[in-house]
Amino acid sequence: MQSQSDNEKFYITTPIFYPNGELHIGHAYASIVGDIFANMAKLQGKKSYFITGADENSLKIQKNADELNMNIMDFLDLQAKNSQLLFDSLNVSFDEYVRTTNKERHHPAVIEVWNKLKDKGDIYEGYYEGYYCVGCEGFKTEKDLIEGLCPDHGTKPDFIKEKNYFFKQSNYTDKIKDIIKNDIIKIYPESRKNEVLSFIDQGLTDTSFSRPYRGQENVVLVPGDNEHGIYVWGDALISYISGLGYGPVGKDLPESLYNIFWNNNHSQKVHLIGKEILKFHAILWPAMLLSADLPLPNNIVVHGLMQSGGRKMSKSVGNVIDPKEMIRKIGTEALRFYFANNIPIFDDGEITEDLIISNYNSYLSNGLGNLTNRLIKMMISYDVSVNFDNIDKTDLYKKLEGNLINTLKDFDINNYTNSLWKELSAIDLDIQTREPFKLFKINPDEARKIVEDMMIRFFTIIHFIQPVLPKTVPKIIKHIENREMPETPLFPKVEIESN
Ligand SMILES: [Zn+2]
Repeated sequence: MQSQSDNEKFYITTPIFYPNGELHIGHAYASIVGDIFANMAKLQGKKSYFITGADENSLKIQKNADELNMNIMDFLDLQAKNSQLLFDSLNVSFDEYVRTTNKERHHPAVIEVWNKLKDKGDIYEGYYEGYYCVGCEGFKTEKDLIEGLCPDHGTKPDFIKEKNYFFKQSNYTDKIKDIIKNDIIKIYPESRKNEVLSFIDQGLTDTSFSRPYRGQENVVLVPGDNEHGIYVWGDALISYISGLGYGPVGKDLPESLYNIFWNNNHSQKVHLIGKEILKFHAILWPAMLLSADLPLPNNIVVHGLMQSGGRKMSKSVGNVIDPKEMIRKIGTEALRFYFANNIPIFDDGEITEDLIISNYNSYLSNGLGNLTNRLIKMMISYDVSVNFDNIDKTDLYKKLEGNLINTLKDFDINNYTNSLWKELSAIDLDIQTREPFKLFKINPDEARKIVEDMMIRFFTIIHFIQPVLPKTVPKIIKHIENREMPETPLFPKVEIESN
C-alpha cells in the first residue's frame, strides 16, 4: 500500500467545462481551488501538474453554435480563447487545457480505452429503451425523474429506443464497493463517500455507452462501426489521461507525463469535482479504469455549490455573481482569498457582493495590507536588519508546513487559510501589547529585536500564503527586500454600495 506522504508527485484536475458561453462563478471557483492545491504541492517541493479543459463533444454544442450562426469549430475556438482570458484574469496557471475535439491527442486515447474495454469483453451490443436528458447528456430511469422531468434541468427527457453499445459496469460492482469503502479511492467529504456506497448497494446496472451517429462534428466514432459515436462521458473522462499524453501519442515518450503523474504509485491523483457529477467519477470512471487495467485515482474531492442570498444563482432570480465584475471591484487576489477562506469547500457556500467586500476590507485591507505597511515602516524607521536565511528552522515554519502537508491530505483549504490569518492577527496583537514604537525611545536594541522577530514571523506566514495569493506575496517580498513602503496600498479599502 502506498502511503500518501510518500508521494512526491501531485496531479490535480478540475472537471472539463462545458463551453456553451461565458464561464461563470462556479468555474472560477473550481479552477481557483485547483490552482491553490497545485501551488501548495509545489510549495511542498512536489512535482505537480494541473489540468482543466473543455468538454466540446457534446450534442448540445451544435445548438449553441447555430444560435450564434457560427461554424462549430469557430465557436469552440472562440470559447477556448475566452476561457483562457478568464483563467488568466483569475491568476490561475494550469499546465494543460484539454480540448476533447483534439483529434491528434484526445481522440486516439478515447479509442484506445474503448478497445481495451472491448478486448476485456466488457462492451456488448444491445437495445436501449428509456429516457435521455440532453441537458445532462445522461440516460435516466423513471426514478431519476421528478414528475416526469429531469430534476436538474426541469425539462422532459427524450424517450429513445435505439441500438447502443453497452459497457458492463455491473462486472465491477464488488470491486468498486471495496475500493470506495476501503478508501483506495478516498472520497471527500465522508458524506459523499456514503452516498456512493448506498448507491452501489442498490445494484449497478450496465451503462449505455454509445449513441447513434447522425453526422455531428467531433464525435468519436465507435471503432469498426461508423453508425455509432462513443457516449460523451466515455469520451470526457478520458481527458484526465489524454491530457497527460496517454494513448498512441503519449506512450512513445519514455518519460511521458502519463507515466510520471498517472501510471505511478508515487503520484497522488486528485479529481476536484462538483457533487452533480459524483457518480460518473466514483463509479463509471473507476469501472472503466479497472476494465482497461489502468491505475485508479487516489482522491475525489467533492466541492459544494455556490448560492447567493440563500438561493441557487439564476438569471431569473437576478442573483448571479459575475466573476469579471468582482475582479473589477476588488481584484483577483481578493476573490481567490474569499473562495479559500469563506466558501466551505465541502458544503454549499454563500457569495454576495456585500460579503465579498466586507471580508476583503477586514482580512485584506485592514488585515494583511495594513500589517505589511506597519511592519515595513518600523523596519525602515528603526533601521532593523533582518536575516531571513534560516526561517525554515523556526517552530512557526514547521507548524505551518505541517498544516500544508495535512491540507494536501484532507483538502481543508478553509482551515489552512484561516490559520494563516490567525497568525497574522497574532502579530497585530503583539504590536499592540509589546508596543515596539514606545520601547524604541527607551531601549532601541530591544525594540529592534522585537521588530526583527515579527518580520521573521511575517515572512514565514506569507511564504505559506503564496498558494492563495500568488501575485501579492512576491510583491510584498520585493518591498521587504528593497526596504521600501508600497507606494499605493496593496488592498485599498472598498466601500459597500448599498442597493
Ligand atoms: Zn438533465
